[in-house]
Amino acid sequence: MKVLIFGAGQLARMMYLAGAPLGIDVQAVDVSNEDVVNPVTKDKLPLSLAEALDAADAISVEFEHIPEALLEQARLTGKLLPGKEAILTGADRVREKRLLERLAIPNCAHRIVDNVEQLDQAVDALGDKLILKASRDGYDGYGQWRLAEREDLPALKQTLAALDLKKVPLVVEQMQQFERELSLVGMRSKDGQLKFYPLAENLHHQGQLHVSLAPAPDCSDALTGQAQDIFSRLAEGLDYVGVLAVEFFQVGDQLLVNEIAPRVHNSGHWSMQGADTCQFENHLRAVCGLPLGDTQARGANVMINVIGYDGLDLELLKVPGSHLHWYGKSVRVKRKMAHINLSAGNYKQLGEAMLALADYLPASHFPHVLGEGKRLQAR
Ligand code: ADP
Ligand code: MG
Repeated sequence: MKVLIFGAGQLARMMYLAGAPLGIDVQAVDVSNEDVVNPVTKDKLPLSLAEALDAADAISVEFEHIPEALLEQARLTGKLLPGKEAILTGADRVREKRLLERLAIPNCAHRIVDNVEQLDQAVDALGDKLILKASRDGYDGYGQWRLAEREDLPALKQTLAALDLKKVPLVVEQMQQFERELSLVGMRSKDGQLKFYPLAENLHHQGQLHVSLAPAPDCSDALTGQAQDIFSRLAEGLDYVGVLAVEFFQVGDQLLVNEIAPRVHNSGHWSMQGADTCQFENHLRAVCGLPLGDTQARGANVMINVIGYDGLDLELLKVPGSHLHWYGKSVRVKRKMAHINLSAGNYKQLGEAMLALADYLPASHFPHVLGEGKRLQAR
């Protein structure tokens, strides 16, 4: 079987690697030039986009920011999974908020702003601790601004005056106080079957995911049920097929949806070692109409992103249960270069292994490893 993925980054690469044992050939489209490439070597393959679309059994995406004309071309083949609406919803925070409202799913108090002058009203309504997000093309904290106090509003307005807010409105959200960030990665098959990985707890730094811990500790059945219920409503509301990720803020016992990602997700990378069937294989199984694989976690698992750093000492692989997944990219500030998966029998052992790993990972680039390792070790 052949699966064509729009986007040729690390997610397409990991899908390729997961598909190989099943005899699924994954090809990728570099959306910047429409070249069809091998997702691992990045070598251009000897076929046109039209030929690749034609040859594919299923077409999917590794990220949501795909030019609409390309998405439409894929939709017309009848093989695009998830569908165009789901992908556009993940790519546009205004559409996403509308979907959450339509399905009555709790999320952060917000206003949609297409003119800087409306920011005064937004502050009146939401208070002066705000996060402003470009509705399109933002990711990993890019395309975001923060307001800490009303006094800073004039300067912020000046910064934002350079943007075309009529074309790309802002979603202005109240800065939410929360206990922690969680995400649910799951999938829906062509015949509507749903499966979920356990909730992951996500630690961010400067707007970017650094560490995911799965299963997230201390999740009651009620909390997990709440997350799965929200996921199901979203997946069914979008008639979704494939892996979907939902990011949450936990506020007391309540989950607020932060955003959704219509694709495999960084907070599901732990599943490569920590679950029977990883998210990449399960996405391929779903879009190819194959039976879904088991999603239960084995023991306790952590995923540590390697961001803007290529100085890793591979001696770190001495730490039992550690695995490195390198993406083959040249280093740049804030660029995701690789991730390390670490698995252990329980949280305490995982904490100990994290402390051993912390010796190899400078805190400047890995701000959460030591603290999180200590927290888990003390359990
Ligand atoms: P991205 O597409 O860059 O992941 P997010 O909307 O998920 O964008 O924002 C990135 C991170 O910024 C979140 O994971 C969270 O840590 C923080 N953040 C986003 N929105 C809010 C909010 N309303 N209140 C508090 N923190 C937020
Ligand atoms: Mg996010």
